[in-house]
Amino acid sequence: MPAVEAPEYQVARRVVVNPKATALIVVDMQNDFVKPGGALVVEQAKGTMSAIQRLLALARRSGMVVLYTQDTHDPGDPEFPIWGQHVLRGSWGWQIVDELAPQAGERVIQKLRYDGFFGTPLDHELRMKDIKTVIVCGTVANICVLHTAGSAALRGYKVILPVDAISAITPFDQQVAIRQTSFLYGGVITTSEAITIA
Ligand code: ZN
Repeated sequence: MPAVEAPEYQVARRVVVNPKATALIVVDMQNDFVKPGGALVVEQAKGTMSAIQRLLALARRSGMVVLYTQDTHDPGDPEFPIWGQHVLRGSWGWQIVDELAPQAGERVIQKLRYDGFFGTPLDHELRMKDIKTVIVCGTVANICVLHTAGSAALRGYKVILPVDAISAITPFDQQVAIRQTSFLYGGVITTSEAITIA
């Protein structure tokens, strides 16, 4: 296999957001992807927990909209031939990890496919609240995080991607997600600690 080098991208050291026009989207931080014994564990995901908690704390104390996506499948789902069975509706693996549990008023969007917008009310939720910018974190970086970030950008939202708050199965996959978000979708690449409130 060829060795490849990831093209360079800028990592913003300070990103100031307007909390009234920004939403934090936590993608698929569910037991099956994060916890030992899960059906499709991303080893790196548990290491992102504190960064995501930091983002949640920032969002909650500044009154930002907080949304979660929850990958949701029923028996016979078209994803199962690719990934095997995971996040079966109602199962332990489907539940969002306790450490990042949604609080009252925080909407959980049950999503069908990689893209959090596909067949869900996510766009409607954001537009109803006049959101212009989305901070996207969670897992898996090059799958549901990237597809949701890309789909947001295609709909005209500004995308912020904190790299310490996303996780992938391989470092290559992680870099693909960052590269595509930056290069293809014009997203801002940064870290959870660099995001501050206007
Ligand atoms: Zn899935």
